Amino acid sequence: MDIKIPHHVELIIRTLQKNGYEAYAVGGCVRDTLLGRVPGDWDITTSALPQQVKALFRRTIDTGIQHGTVTIMMDHVGYEVTTYRIDGEYEDGRHPKQVEFTSSLLEDLRRRDFTINAMAYSPESGIVDAFDGMKDLERKVIRCVGAAMDRFTEDALRILRAIRFSAQLGFTIEEDTWNAVSAIAPNIAKVSKERIQVELTKLLLSGHPEYMRQVFEAGISTYVSPAFSRIPWPDIRIPADLPEEKYVRWAAFLRLVSPAEAVQVLKDLKLDNDTIARVRTLVNWSGAELAADPVCVRRAMSQMEPEVWDALLALNACGDDIRGLTCRIRERGDCLSLKNLAVKGKDLMEAGVRPGKEMGVMLNHLLDLVLECPEMNTRETLLTQIPKPESGQNPAPRA
Ligand code: ATP
Ligand code: MG
Repeated sequence: MDIKIPHHVELIIRTLQKNGYEAYAVGGCVRDTLLGRVPGDWDITTSALPQQVKALFRRTIDTGIQHGTVTIMMDHVGYEVTTYRIDGEYEDGRHPKQVEFTSSLLEDLRRRDFTINAMAYSPESGIVDAFDGMKDLERKVIRCVGAAMDRFTEDALRILRAIRFSAQLGFTIEEDTWNAVSAIAPNIAKVSKERIQVELTKLLLSGHPEYMRQVFEAGISTYVSPAFSRIPWPDIRIPADLPEEKYVRWAAFLRLVSPAEAVQVLKDLKLDNDTIARVRTLVNWSGAELAADPVCVRRAMSQMEPEVWDALLALNACGDDIRGLTCRIRERGDCLSLKNLAVKGKDLMEAGVRPGKEMGVMLNHLLDLVLECPEMNTRETLLTQIPKPESGQNPAPRA
């Protein structure tokens, strides 16, 4: 069977072969191409040692030489070329103690996590499928290469990868593999929170975010974090038609918990502050009953960035009334933030308002007026709203 590979990948494979080495495209790119999906990147596996790879190409980067990986740059695109390897004994439920290079493609494929990720391809040999990956692609199952219990014991991250791939591909996890997921779940405690987060975020951004339920069904949630395990998952609904944005998907998943609990989950998983702030806003507002009234809508819009508001409309499945109001407010260019207020701090200072706390209170008061009545957003009108300094109050005496 022939598959279409990019010109650069073919060039790299042929260059290695011409110099007496074996080389194949391998892993995710083969899987995705067979599924008619566009691969994120193309990885190459070869019998050549890293130094031998480096000697053949002009521009290379030592990405992970000790693990056998060299990146070859072609037209500013990087291709990872990794020497065939066997992972040594795993010492901490996550990392092999040492890796050993091998001259056998089969050994290299055997160390890979799932059958659908353990296929290689070269134009000469076609598809090398030693573990029935093709059959599993057809049956739409995620199955470990070899004994699932052993593979998850070696590296507990694979447990989350199994669930994540099932969500991305819409596949089911084969029975033995699923049983091992549950049995080895406590080992998730050995996986770093960042790695857990990356997998869960990929899962939420996939075509089946609702497969997050498998994390709970498998009994993994307590090892993710205590706050995470308190999420009332049987009630969670995450439609796959929500925008593919990290903060939107996390908010959809967390909207049934309090904003404080949502923030706790995200902090436990070391999400970035920007995402945490946006999710907090969305979770906070997602429960609120929004009245289809221009003042209420402006007030709510003033609390978040425009794209976060759009996400809230999607999350709350808001109807045409609120969407229509949103459009009109935007078309008119109604002021929704201090940035667009017709007076600035400088104007208020000239009118006698003292900088500092008093200034902040006054600006927010004016913004509030304008949110209620957008026509008031002119310099003249707003300045009339500032109370004059009380008469009889003398300027501070000079020293
Ligand atoms: P994607 O990049 O779309 O998430 P992928 O299959 O390319 O999917 P990568 O994490 O890029 O996944 O890894 C490339 C390949 O390396 C995988 O296809 C698999 O063969 C192997 N692999 C990656 N991580 C592991 C692991 N933890 N255990 C065993 N094999 C792994
Ligand atoms: Mg990849």
